[in-house]
Amino acid sequence: MALRRTKILATLGPATDKPGVLEGLFAAGVDAVRLNFSHGTAEDHINRANAVREMSKKTGRRVGILADLQGPKIRIERFKPNAKENGAEKVWLHNGQDFALDINLDYTAGDETQVAISYEPLPKEVKAGSRLLLDDGRVVLDVVNVEENLRINCTVVVGGYLSNKKGINLLGGGLSAAALTDKDKEDIKTAAKIDVDFVAVSFPRCAEDLHEARRLLAAEGCYASIVSKVERAEAVVQPTMDEIILASDVVMVARGDLGVEIGDANLPAVQKRLIQRSRALDRAVITATQMMESMIENPIPTRAEVFDVANAVLDGTDAIMLSAETASGKHPVLAVEAMDRVCKETEQQPSIRTSKHRVECTFQRVDEAIAMSAMYMANHTDDVKAIVAMTESGSTPLWMSRISSGIPIYAFSSQLHTLGKVTLYRGVFPMYFSNESQDHATVNREIVDLLRTKGQSKNGDKIIITKGDLTGQQGGTSALKVVTIGEGLTP
Ligand code: PGA
Ligand code: MN
Repeated sequence: MALRRTKILATLGPATDKPGVLEGLFAAGVDAVRLNFSHGTAEDHINRANAVREMSKKTGRRVGILADLQGPKIRIERFKPNAKENGAEKVWLHNGQDFALDINLDYTAGDETQVAISYEPLPKEVKAGSRLLLDDGRVVLDVVNVEENLRINCTVVVGGYLSNKKGINLLGGGLSAAALTDKDKEDIKTAAKIDVDFVAVSFPRCAEDLHEARRLLAAEGCYASIVSKVERAEAVVQPTMDEIILASDVVMVARGDLGVEIGDANLPAVQKRLIQRSRALDRAVITATQMMESMIENPIPTRAEVFDVANAVLDGTDAIMLSAETASGKHPVLAVEAMDRVCKETEQQPSIRTSKHRVECTFQRVDEAIAMSAMYMANHTDDVKAIVAMTESGSTPLWMSRISSGIPIYAFSSQLHTLGKVTLYRGVFPMYFSNESQDHATVNREIVDLLRTKGQSKNGDKIIITKGDLTGQQGGTSALKVVTIGEGLTP
């Protein structure tokens, strides 16, 4: 069967620390991993990254590493041990009862009437009638009044269990919290030390939040791709949506928090719009959260989850993400395998293997025009089996992968960071390649030999190669060559 084009990003955690699991994820075809800085210590993340690098070395397959910053997730503090719950630190809230969130309360003194919060501006940012969604919307509170900017008195609209450190979202969005907290700034240093390929910024409000993360990373000598997690209501209205996309290298449809802020019924349309806009603006896009949620417990996904993954593939997403399914679930490897098989089958749909995208465009840049020409040719010429883009920065394979196609795009590069970045681009496969020669015929032969040894081509196949002047400069792609394997190229 053909290579899978849609990429799988799996979150690491206690479940993947168990012996053999990381190996299993690699064998199942994971393309990139997420280190979730909302949980665990810097040391946990460093150890996991080292294990991934080791496995990459062992298997000869570059797997991207993404550091996901926690961001200003607003949370309640803790509950006292509750005798009614066998001493567990949780309470049951009844519909219609009163419940308060209080800045001044002791952090461990929560009970059935009140709980502490540590985000001081919250009482100033809500008013009577505001609706607060706790624990991803499982518990809903309506604000009755605010006392002296310290205590928010609420009525419970939807009750249920509430336990320590659950998240708080404001329906409709609008909380002012800056995207980068002090913890995030520390974690950026750890991410730079690990030398990750991607850094994800949680809850960005605007393009500037992403520029700031990029500057802080650069100050640490790290040039990782910036991922914007779109999870605030204000981030999905224009022109902010396009500004955020343009300030990012990769966009994440962060359906968990976003669904809480905009309401679940709005998510499908927003997912489609975000994917469409990201692709149109030459950015990659990840679809995230609850894709295989039931596999946290079960060895097979529900039919609805199969359709969710397939529909994201049909929407044109570059990558799909697993969160707790792999980080703390019972079947991390089976979850990747399930995504893998659903993607591969779905990608056979003829409608997503051709493209009319950008045929009306004119291009200022030669390298971009070459990338488009290669895709047009690949989709419209018999027997083309592969595209090879020799690339320094990864721009050429990114442009190429914005065009739907069934033909694999191999990113050949000697730059390890470039190989890391392209792990999330749909239909792009990284291959380490360092050209010894500056003679085009020799380099073409080396490229073909490498594809053959990897079992990716055979006699009679046509291959499209794009490259520059072989001097290792960025943005220099200026040539498109078609070779037919076996015709005087290899002995
Ligand atoms: P999280 O982000 O898992 O870090 O909260 C993803 C989301 O909100 O969907
Ligand atoms: Mn989130």
